[in-house]
This record gives sequence, structure tokens and C-alpha cells, in this order.
Amino acid sequence: MTQLPGSWRRTAAAARLLGADGEVAPTIFAEMSALAASTGALNLGQGFPDEDGPAEVLEAARAAISDGRNQYPPGRGEPELLEAISEHQKRFYGIDVDPSTEVIVTAGATEALTATLLALLDGPGDEVVVFEPFYDAYAAAVGLAGARLVPVRLPWPGFQPDLDALERAVTDRTRVILVNDPHNPTGAVFSLDVREKIVELAHRHDAIVVTDEVYEHLSLDGPHVPIATMPGAAERTVSISSGGKTFRTTGWKIGWLTAPADLVTAVLTVKQYLTYSNGAPFQPAIARGLRLPDTFFAGIADEMRAKRDLLGSGLAAAGFTVSRPSGSYFTVADAAPLGADDAAELCRTLPERVGVVAVPLSAFVTAEHSDEYRSLVRFAACKRPEILDEAVSRLAELNR
Ligand code: PMP
Ligand code: GLN
Repeated sequence: MTQLPGSWRRTAAAARLLGADGEVAPTIFAEMSALAASTGALNLGQGFPDEDGPAEVLEAARAAISDGRNQYPPGRGEPELLEAISEHQKRFYGIDVDPSTEVIVTAGATEALTATLLALLDGPGDEVVVFEPFYDAYAAAVGLAGARLVPVRLPWPGFQPDLDALERAVTDRTRVILVNDPHNPTGAVFSLDVREKIVELAHRHDAIVVTDEVYEHLSLDGPHVPIATMPGAAERTVSISSGGKTFRTTGWKIGWLTAPADLVTAVLTVKQYLTYSNGAPFQPAIARGLRLPDTFFAGIADEMRAKRDLLGSGLAAAGFTVSRPSGSYFTVADAAPLGADDAAELCRTLPERVGVVAVPLSAFVTAEHSDEYRSLVRFAACKRPEILDEAVSRLAELNR
């Protein structure tokens, strides 16, 4: 190993992201995909589709490369994508968004989230209320901003927060209420009561609502309702999404956010020094995708609903107790009926035992609450039906 200069110090922000052993720990998703690759197991761990998305979208990217759209796009994003995002918000949700001042294109939803949190948080006195279990990047970004995470638990199996607990968590220290709906890893879609409470508390404590809606078109039991459409919400909401899930292009990393112009300006000041811009030929391709007919969007939800049902019934037949997700890529199942109280241990051994990879819910929770989620496992349903079929029949071997 090369010796670092004597003056080198790890920053506090970087230190917060290190594993316990002082090494850079891979994300749980990277770890699980590596395990799937090394064992040849079926990967129901990391949430990415195993089929390509719409041909028109892929073709639009190829055409953009051939047409020489290979240099830096504008920092805010290609005008045609900004327009397409604005049209999309109007078409699906009736929201008016000015494409020139109220939208930014980002390097995936991940950059939108990180830039927003870095722009809004001002160190140790600031708190971010987050629903637990939560997506791994949230704690990392709040950690980079040096702020404090305040988790509100989503109890198994319905995964709706207790409104009193939510009310206690939000205080005048709360700068951001971070809402992921449909929710990863639980598949929950928040009830109207919860959405109303979030907006009411944001007003009472002068907080900003930041939404992560990357599964907006995978709301499976009814239309997706963005928080920004709730009365009084739009003026204090940053709405984040991305093309990865909708168009099965997770590797393209084209995301975006919409917000009132002043908030967009605040976030843009950070974003322009994170990546400046990204994905030149993919931006027009995602614009093409956002303009696909309604049948495309209804079709991906229908397909995901069928996969959810297939996975859910297969897991139940294999002996798990299964929660019923209303959206997202994921299904959570309890392994306790199979005699497995420790899902982390189960997931470490599953590839060898039956050739399936899944993720323990403990990977999405803080240490204080991990007991409550100890026997729960997240399975990704965004795979071909024959893969889901094979996976659940392998999992049934656990019961023999
Ligand atoms: N938020 C959630 C809830 C996710 O599940 C993911 C990724 N799968 C992301 C954000 C990251 O999205 P992107 O790949 O667009 O950065
Ligand atoms: N969002 C995907 C998941 O939850 C993983 C994305 C990633 O690997 N960072 O599985």
C-alpha cells in the first residue's frame, strides 16, 4: 500500500461512511450482487430489472450518440428533457412546473437527493425526519451534511407510520422530512392520513418536504399521489424521481427534481459542483420515454403487479409470512416461520443453501431498531417471471 502524506486526515464526513473495520464498506446491494455473481445464485437482492426497457427509448440514445450529442449538456439539463419532465408532471399529476426555472436534471435520483440535502442542511443542529427502514443513500447524504437523522419506524406488516410518533419526531429542529413513496424496501404506499400529516407538520415547523418518487409508475393498487399535489405542499416540496425504474435503464443515471424556483436555485448551486451535468445522449432518450403513451405506463404497472403476485404467493407457499406491497420493486417476507430469526445470517447462507440472493431488512435500519426487523427479508420482484418461479421453488427447499 502507498503511504499517504503525514498531513492527511480523514474528514469527519468521510469517517462517518466507513465500515466498522475502517475499510470502505461496499453498499449492501453491491455486496449482494457480488455474492450472486460468485455463487451463480439468482439475484433477488439488488433492485434492477433483468430485461431491457422500451425499444424507442434505447434507440433514441443510440441516435443521440450518432447525432453527436456527446458533449456536456447544460447544467440544468437538456431543454427537451426539462420540457418533457414539465409535461409529465402536468399530464400525470396536474402539476404546473416551469421548465426553465423549476426543474433540474441530475445524475440519478441519488444526486438529486444528495445535492438537495447538502443545500438544505447546515450541520449538527439540523434534523432530517426519515421513515425507517430507509434507502441506504439517505443516511450517507445526511451524514455528509453533518446533520442528524431522526427515524420514524414503519412497523411490519403494513409499514404505515404511527401518526403520534411522526408528530413527536418533527420539531423546530427539523429542516427536512424525507419521504420515499412508493417505499423501498417495504413496498408501502403511504395513506392519505400520513401524507396530510406530513404536510401539516412541515407547515407547523417550517420544514421542507423532500420526496423520493423513483417508483412513481410502479404504484400497484391505485394511482400515485405526489405529496406536491396535496393542498399547501407544493411551495415547500422538492419532488425527486428518475428514469431508471420506469424505463429499465438503472445504469443511465438520469434523474431530476422539481421544486419552487428558489429551492431549485439553492440545489443547483450544489449540483453544479457535484457533477455539473451528465448523460448527454441519455437525456433526450429519457425525454422520449416520458412522452410515451399512457399504455406504456399502465403496462409496466400491470407487469409489476403480476410479478408481485407471483413472488408473494411463491414465498407464502415456501413457508414465509409475506407482506403485500402496494408499490415499488420489492416484497418483504418474514423468515421466522421457517425457523430463521436472523435474516442477515439467512441471507449470507441462502446462496450456498438454495441458490438465491436476497437482502435482510436490517440493512435498512439503525442499530437501535434492528431487533424489530431481525427476521425480515427483502426480495426484488423486478425479474423475469421464470426467474421468480425458479427462485421461489428453490426457496421452498428451506422447508424440507
Ligand atoms: N431512491 C430509491 C428509493 C431507490 O430505490 C433508488 C435506486 N434504486 C434510488 C433512489 C436511486 O435512484 P438512481 O439510480 O436514479 O440514482
Ligand atoms: N435501489 C436499488 C435497490 O434498492 C439498488 C441501487 C444501488 O445499488 N445503489 O436495490
